Amino acid sequence: MFEAVISLCLSLAAGPCRDHLLPGYEAQTQAACAAALAAMAPDLTRFSGLQAKGEARCQPVGETLSVIEIAPGAFVHRGAIEEPDATNRGDVSNLGFVIGNAGVAVIDTGTARWMGEALWRAIRARTALPVTHVILTHMHPDHVFGAGPLVDAGAQVVGHAGLARALADRQMNYLESLNRLVGVGTMLGTRSVSVDLAIETTAEIDLGGRVLSLRAWPAGHTATDLTVLDATSGTLFAGDLVFDDHTPALDGSLPGWRAVLLELTGMELSRVVPGHGGPSLEWPAGAADTQRYLEVLEADTRAAIDAGQRLADAVEVIARSEAEAWALFEAYNARNATVAFTELEWD
Ligand SMILES: [Zn+2]
Repeated sequence: MFEAVISLCLSLAAGPCRDHLLPGYEAQTQAACAAALAAMAPDLTRFSGLQAKGEARCQPVGETLSVIEIAPGAFVHRGAIEEPDATNRGDVSNLGFVIGNAGVAVIDTGTARWMGEALWRAIRARTALPVTHVILTHMHPDHVFGAGPLVDAGAQVVGHAGLARALADRQMNYLESLNRLVGVGTMLGTRSVSVDLAIETTAEIDLGGRVLSLRAWPAGHTATDLTVLDATSGTLFAGDLVFDDHTPALDGSLPGWRAVLLELTGMELSRVVPGHGGPSLEWPAGAADTQRYLEVLEADTRAAIDAGQRLADAVEVIARSEAEAWALFEAYNARNATVAFTELEWD
C-alpha cells in the first residue's frame, strides 16, 4: 500500500521538518497514488505556519499504530504508562476505533499529529470505510492532539459541550509543554481542532448497523468527560474516568468523579476501555482500583482539612497509603491532593 506525504518544515533554512501524511490518496501501487494526487491537489492551507519542502509525493505506507481487537470490530491501541517524553513521543494514552457497516468512529487520538496519522494507517489496514467521527473523551492533550489528520480525512469532531472552550483556554499551554517534553520536530504539524458536534447530555452516532451512545458527564476527571458505549459489543470507552495501573489524575471534581463512577459501575457491560492501562477491563471489577484511590484521596483530604493542616503539609500525607498500588504516583498524587484540598476546603 502506498500513501501521499509532504515534507513540511518550521523553517526551510533551519528545520525541523517532518513528512506529513495526506490522507485519502492511499492506493495499491505508487502509480495509482500519484495519479490520484495529480487528479486532485491536496489542500495545504490547513498547514498554516509550516513551509513545504518539495512537492507532495507517494511512498510506501509509514509507521502504523499497533492495535488490539478487544471485540469484533472494536480496536484499541494501548499507550505506555509513562509521562510524555522524547522516547515515547507522547504515545502514553489509549486510543480506539469502532467499525460499523457504513463508517468508522475514532475514540481519542493521542498527543501529536504523528499518532493520528499512525492510527489512520491502522484503520486503513482493516477497512476502506470512511472515518466519519472523531470522538474526544475529554480535553487532556494526550487524547486530543492527534485529531488533525482524521479531520483532514473528513471526520467530524465530537466532544462534550464544554470541550471547545476548555481547549481554547488551554491549547497554547499544552502545546508549549509538549514541544518541550516530546520535542518540536516530533510535534510538528500538531494542532487543536474545532468541535463540530458538542454534546450537552446524550447523543447517538450510527455507523451503519452499529450505534454508539455518547454521554456527557458533570465534572469528574475533568469538566469535559464524555463516554462512548458500543452496545453491539457491550464495550464502554470510559476515557480517563477509569484508570488502570497509571495513577488517576484529578482535574475536575473529586466528589463529582466518584458519583460518575458509581453510576458507571451500575451499567451492565462486557468490558471497559480505560484511558490508560488495560486496554480491556472486566466490569464493574475494573473500576475498583480507581474507586478505592478516589475514596482514600477524599477521606485523607477531609481529615487533613478537619485537623487544620496547611495545604503544603497535607499534600505530603494525603493518599500516601496508595503509593505502592500505582505507577507514576509521585508525578500525580501531590497534584491530586492539591486539587482535592482546594475543592473540599470550601465544602
Ligand atoms: Zn485525562
